[in-house]
Amino acid sequence: MIIGIDDTDSKDGMCTTYLAAVLIEKLKEYGTIREYPLLIRLNPNIKYKTRGNAALALPLDLIEAGAAWEIKRLVVETVENMAVFSDENTNPGVVFIERTSKELQNDLALFSMRAVQDVLEIREARELLARYNLSHKGFKNGRGLIGALAAAGFALCGLPDFTYELIAYREKVRWGTTREIDQESVWTASSTPDTWDTVDYENKRIVFAPHSPDPILFGIRGKSESAVRSAFSLIRSEPVERYVVYRTNQNTDMHLVRARISDVKDDRSYIIGGMVGKNPETIEGGHVFFELNDGSAALGCAAFEPTKGFRSIIRQLCTGDEVEVYGSVKDRTMNLEKINIKTLNSEVPRNPLCCGKRMKSIGRDQGYRCVKCGAIKKEQEIEMLPRNILPGFYEVPPCARRHLSKPLIRFRMTGEESSCVH
Ligand code: ATP
Repeated sequence: MIIGIDDTDSKDGMCTTYLAAVLIEKLKEYGTIREYPLLIRLNPNIKYKTRGNAALALPLDLIEAGAAWEIKRLVVETVENMAVFSDENTNPGVVFIERTSKELQNDLALFSMRAVQDVLEIREARELLARYNLSHKGFKNGRGLIGALAAAGFALCGLPDFTYELIAYREKVRWGTTREIDQESVWTASSTPDTWDTVDYENKRIVFAPHSPDPILFGIRGKSESAVRSAFSLIRSEPVERYVVYRTNQNTDMHLVRARISDVKDDRSYIIGGMVGKNPETIEGGHVFFELNDGSAALGCAAFEPTKGFRSIIRQLCTGDEVEVYGSVKDRTMNLEKINIKTLNSEVPRNPLCCGKRMKSIGRDQGYRCVKCGAIKKEQEIEMLPRNILPGFYEVPPCARRHLSKPLIRFRMTGEESSCVH
C-alpha cells in the first residue's frame, strides 16, 4: 500500500512532514516502510503553498493484507486530529494506492511530473482517482489531493533522481520557542562529506534550521542515508523528539524544463539559453535585472537581494554574453537560481573617438561626425572590454537556495557537466 498525504499544515504550527513522521510510528504495528518515506517538493510557484510545497508518500509493506481498512481509518483519524483545519489555506488530502497496472503507472508518472513542473486543477486529481477507483479522502476543498496523489505517484513509479534529508523534530513543549542548537557542532557537522546546505560559508550563516514556529528542529541534506546520519551524529542540540530519513526530489532540478522564451508561461520553471540583450541594472532594494534574448522573444531575469553575492556575478554580464539561465518565471521575470555563462563578449562596437569625444552618428549607414572638428568616419570602432568573470556555472548561495534547486556540489559529484563549475 502507498499512502500519499498533503496540505495539513499552517504557517504558525504543524507541517505535513511531522504528521507523516507521527504516522510512520503508528504504522509500525501494521507493516514496514519499503525503502524510504518520500518527501516530494512540488511546483515551487503554486500560490496556495504554505512554505515549501511539500507532499509525502509512505510506501508500506503490510504484515497482513486484511489490515488495509484499519490503516486507512488510522491515517484519516490522524489527519483529522493533527491538521490545522481552521486555516483557510489548509485543504488536506490523503490517497491510498493498493494495486497497480501499466495504465495507472503511465497516467500517474505524467500527473506527478506535472505537479512538479506545471499547474494542475483539483478536478484532474479527482478524475484520476475516480478512473482507477483509488481510495482517498479530500477535506474541505480537497486541494491536498493533488499533492497527495503526486507524491503517491512517485512512490509507485520511482524518482529519476533523488537525494536524502534527515529531519529532526522538536518536543511539542518547545514549539514556537527559540531553537537551542550548538552552533560550533553545526559548523563541524557541515564538513561531513556528501552533505550540503547545512551552513552558508560565504554568508557565515547556519541555514539548516527554520525560524518558523513549526515542529522541525533542523534538516540535513545529502547524497546518502549514511552521509546525513554521520552529520546528524555530530550535532548537539535540545532533545530531538523523533527524526526521519526521507528520500526526496530536493536538489534535483526536477522542476526545470528546457524552453524557448516565446513558450514560457508564468508560474513554471525553466532552463533557457540566449544572449544578454541589455546590460544589467541594479534597482532600489539591491535587486539586479538584465534582459535575455533567444531570437524568439525577450525575458527579464532577476537576481533578487536575498541572493547576496550571486548579484555581483550578474552585475558583470554584458550585452552579447551567451548564457543559459535556470529559474522560475513570475510576472514575465525569471527569478534566477543558477546561470551557466557560456561565452563572454569582449568586443563592444563604439562610435569612433575624435578630439577626446565620441563622434555622433550622422544617420543610418552614413557614418559618424566629430562635433568639434567636423571629421567624418564611416565605421564604428571595436572596443575590447576587460572582463572580470570566467565562463562556467554560478549559483545562488545556500541561504537563498530553493528546495528543488540542484546545487553545483551535486554537478561536481556526478561530473555530468563538462563546463566549469564555480
Ligand atoms: P509545508 O512546506 O509546510 O509542508 P506546503 O508549502 O507544502 O507547506 P501546502 O499546505 O501543502 O503547502 O499547500 C500546497 C497546495 O497546493 C496543496 O493543496 C497541493 O495539493 C497544491 N499543489 C501542489 N502542487 C500543485 C500544482 N502543481 N498545481 C496545483 N496545485 C498544487
